[in-house]
Amino acid sequence: MLVPCPNCRVEFSPSLRTCPTCGKYEPPFEVVRDHFLRQTMEAIAAGASDAKVREIFIARGLADAEADEHVTIAKRQSRGANRRSGISHIAQGILFLLLSGFLWLLSYAVTRGFVTLFFYGLFAIGVGFLVAGIYQWLTGRRVE
Ligand SMILES: [Zn+2]
Repeated sequence: MLVPCPNCRVEFSPSLRTCPTCGKYEPPFEVVRDHFLRQTMEAIAAGASDAKVREIFIARGLADAEADEHVTIAKRQSRGANRRSGISHIAQGILFLLLSGFLWLLSYAVTRGFVTLFFYGLFAIGVGFLVAGIYQWLTGRRVE
């Protein structure tokens, strides 16, 4: 994401904090904050530790308190996103379980064998999603 300088019409990364051409224009605080937040979330999603993310911010010239605040907000947001995807995993798990239940009932009507095999497959997928979803929802951690 780039910010345009109104003085010189060049675009630059908000991590520079001032326009590299005129050195006068500073992007709005919200733009800089969003930029850093996005980077933090990407780093956390990629598995970077809090200390590592903090280190990156301080190297970019943020004050200690500012760096802490960014890490806290980014963690909260990424936890929220993981919880939401946990809920969708729970929903997928329930769907697969319902489907496997339906096949299970069907297997009484029709011959066993192929349908039963399918049932075990769907049941396993359903349980997998459900367990991953509940874990994600409870912990806010990411599950691949
Ligand atoms: Zn400029």
